[in-house]
Amino acid sequence: MASLQLPVAELSEETELIRAEIHEFLRVEQENGTFQPKCDTWLSGCSPSFSRKLGERGWIGMTWPKRYGGHERSALERYVVTEELLSAGAPVAAHWIADRQTGPLLLRYGTEEQRSLFLPKIARGECYFAIGLSEPNAGSDLAAVQSRAVKVEGGWLLNGSKTWTSGAHHAHYMITLCRTSAYNPEKRHDGMSQLLVDLSAPGVTVRPILLMTGEHHFNEVFFEDVFIPDDCLIGQEGNGWKQGMTELAYERSGPERFLSTFPLLQELTNQVKMTGDKHLMGQLSKLVSRLWTLRLMSIGVAQMLEKGETPDVMAALVKDMGTKFEQQVAEVARLLIPTSPSIRGALLLDHFMAESILHAPGFTLRGGTTEILRGIVAKGVVSK
Ligand SMILES: Cc1cc2nc3c(=O)[nH]c(=O)nc-3n(C[C@H](O)[C@H](O)[C@H](O)COP(=O)(O)OP(=O)(O)OC[C@H]3O[C@@H](n4cnc5c(N)ncnc54)[C@H](O)[C@@H]3O)c2cc1C
Repeated sequence: MASLQLPVAELSEETELIRAEIHEFLRVEQENGTFQPKCDTWLSGCSPSFSRKLGERGWIGMTWPKRYGGHERSALERYVVTEELLSAGAPVAAHWIADRQTGPLLLRYGTEEQRSLFLPKIARGECYFAIGLSEPNAGSDLAAVQSRAVKVEGGWLLNGSKTWTSGAHHAHYMITLCRTSAYNPEKRHDGMSQLLVDLSAPGVTVRPILLMTGEHHFNEVFFEDVFIPDDCLIGQEGNGWKQGMTELAYERSGPERFLSTFPLLQELTNQVKMTGDKHLMGQLSKLVSRLWTLRLMSIGVAQMLEKGETPDVMAALVKDMGTKFEQQVAEVARLLIPTSPSIRGALLLDHFMAESILHAPGFTLRGGTTEILRGIVAKGVVSK
C-alpha cells in the first residue's frame, strides 16, 4: 500500500501582498455596510453586486489566461483570496461555482467560442453557473443519471430533472450531465455528455427546495423538451463521465471545505479570550491546530493544481476531514460557551451558531458524501 504525498505548503511574498490587499478591501466593504459576515456564504450568500466588485478588482478567474478575461495569477494567489473571502464571511455564492469549476472545465474541454463567450463574463462577476449532477435517483451513484438528450437537427432535446441544484434560481446556466446514448447496464459510465443549459430557455422549470432555516438555497430543475444547440455540447459526446470527474477535483479541494463555519470559530475565539479560562483555551486550541493542518493540506492541493496535476484523491481526503471539522466547530462551541442560537439573534455568537447548526448537516453531503470520499481515498491508496 502506497502513502499519499502532498507538497510542503509554501506561500510566497506575492501571496502575502495580495492577502493584504483583499483584507483591506473586505475591511472597508464591511465598514461601509456592504455585507454582514455570515457562515457558509460560499453557497448561501448571494450578492451579484458584490461579485461584480470582486470581478472589477481581478479576483475572479484569477488563474485564467488574460485573453479570456483572466489575470494569469498563480493558484496560490487564488488560494489566498478565497481564504480571505471565506474567513470574512463575505457573500460570494453568486459567482463561486462558475469561478471554481465552470471556468477550469471550459478551459480544459470547451471550444474556443465557448471560452471567448463565457469566461470574460464569468471573470467580470456577471455570469453564474449551477452544477447539474444529482437527480432524484442518482446521488452518490451518479452513473444512474437518467436525464436524456436526444439528437435533433441543429442540437439536442433534453428531458429529465435534477435536484439539490445550488443557486439554480440565480444562475444563468447549468452544466448538465445527461445521457446522450441508450443506458447500458454493463457500461454504466459510457454514453453520458455534458451540456451547457441556458436556465432561461423554454421548457426549463426551477422550483425551490427550502432549507431548515427557511432560506431558498437549492432547487429542483425540470427539463421538458428543452432545445440545446449543438454548440452547447462541452467536450466530446459520450465523454461526460470523465469530464465530470475532473470537475469534481476542483469542487472538492478548496478551503471552502473547512472554512464554512470560520466566522463562528473567530467569534468563539473572541469570547473565550474574554473569559481568560485556560481550560476553554485548551479546548479551543485543539480546534485551531486541526484547522492549521487542514489549511496546510489544502495549500498543498493548490500547489498540485498549479503544477497541472489532478489531485482527486487528496481533494477527497481534504474534503472528508475538512467537512467533519467545520461541523465540529458548532458542536465544540455549544459545549464551551452558553448560547441561545437564533438566525435573527442580536449577538454574533448566537447568530453564527444558528447558521452553523442548521447548515452543518449538508457539509458532509454536498460535493460527495463522507462514505463515498473514503471509498475514493481507499481505492487511491491501494492502486497507487
Ligand atoms: C447543501 C447541498 C447542496 C448541494 N448542491 C448540489 C448541486 O449544486 N448540484 C448537484 O448536482 N448536487 C448537489 N447536492 C447533492 C449532493 O451532491 C448529494 O446529496 C450527494 O451526492 C448524495 O446523494 P444523495 O443525496 O442522493 O444521497 P444517497 O446517494 O442516496 O446516499 C444516502 C446515504 O447512503 C450512503 N451511501 C450511498 N452509496 C454508498 C456506497 N456505495 N457506500 C457507502 N455508503 C453509501 C451515502 O454516503 C449517504 O450517507 C447538494 C447537496 C447538499 C446537501
